[in-house]
Amino acid sequence: MSQSNTASPSFLARVPLWQQILVGLVLGVVVGMLFKSVALALAPIGALFLNAIKMLIVPLVFVSLVAGITAMSDSAKLGRISVKTIAIYLITTAFAVSIGLAFGTLFSPGEGMNMVASGSEEAKQAPSLVQILVGLVPTNPVTAFAEGNILQIIVFAIALGVSMNLVGEKAAPVVRLFDSMAEVFYKLTDLVMRFAPIGVFALIAGVVASHGIEVLLPLAGVIGVIYLASIAHMLLIYGGLIGGLARLSPLRFFRGIAPALAVAFSTSSSSGTLPVSIECARKNLGVSQGVAGFVLPVGATINMDGTAIYQGVLALFIAQAFGIDLNAGQYLMIILTATLASVGTAGVPGAGLIMLGLVLTSVGLPLEGVALIAGIDRILDMARTTVNVAGDLMTTTLVGSSEKELDREIYNSDNAA
Ligand code: ASP
Repeated sequence: MSQSNTASPSFLARVPLWQQILVGLVLGVVVGMLFKSVALALAPIGALFLNAIKMLIVPLVFVSLVAGITAMSDSAKLGRISVKTIAIYLITTAFAVSIGLAFGTLFSPGEGMNMVASGSEEAKQAPSLVQILVGLVPTNPVTAFAEGNILQIIVFAIALGVSMNLVGEKAAPVVRLFDSMAEVFYKLTDLVMRFAPIGVFALIAGVVASHGIEVLLPLAGVIGVIYLASIAHMLLIYGGLIGGLARLSPLRFFRGIAPALAVAFSTSSSSGTLPVSIECARKNLGVSQGVAGFVLPVGATINMDGTAIYQGVLALFIAQAFGIDLNAGQYLMIILTATLASVGTAGVPGAGLIMLGLVLTSVGLPLEGVALIAGIDRILDMARTTVNVAGDLMTTTLVGSSEKELDREIYNSDNAA
């Protein structure tokens, strides 16, 4: 983050942004617990910050992806990056469900709840694979922009970028235009992020104030297991892959992505966090615009490791709470459906809870489980969104490093925001 130009920068300007955001987060929790009415009155400030980052999503994703594709004129490389991205996303997600299942078995948070199913709830219908594929191509790009349909915008941006590469010399002015627009949107993101400490503070205070101890206590066990499994997944799988495969420092990785994690935690939206993730990947991790502009928007829509962990733990929790034994086939079914359901989960608050219904029906577990969780879902959403965003950034780092699209000097520098 650029510092103020005055001869002696103010105290605040000398504190890195990620530390300011963490202070905002902790203060928000304290104010939410101790001063409920003050915390609730802060809602407009939180909403203002949220609006400002959401305002950036569509234009930023579009221009940075087009600019990224034109900077990467080798189409074989683009294909390779796509395959690597999708493969890492799917494999880590399957791991995530398995970690959720392992923690759910180990700690058995639903044991002894003795719930009885009435069988009156109905499951939601999931869209079919063909429907999803056909829907990827927008019939009208303007509608895709207006509706904020990220997958359609990605497809349109790739098609446009590839066409610009094919045209060559005559497309040079538009290539430069997109390049310069991308810079402008990065700057705008930078400006919005200066308000992140206050925005995160207000958002978190509101969430804590509206979720009293009385709501959380009866389900404290399952909340604890999901948080533990999420932390284990981030440290072991992400830390391990960054250190082992990319040969980069996991510590610097987590420090570099801290602003994105804090925004994910307080907004519960990986799509909403996208501008911040792109900024962290480029400025703190040194990932190129092309890789960050492609891997992150795709991840924010299809890669949801945190959601997968949550579904794994909750499937077991609900089975235990209703006294139902699951066999090996059902465990496999949970891994499969939770991986697919997490791909279909939108990066917005509460989407994972709806998809949980799908996983439960696939193995014949009672849908009342969804109602049981609904009251505490926001608290669980904060954990899963944080993992979702961390997973996107981990994949971006791996792909960037393997494609020589990651500047190790920036990654290892101490000037990270
Ligand atoms: N809120 C999550 C996200 O934006 C999705 C979910 O509800 O699981 O990543």
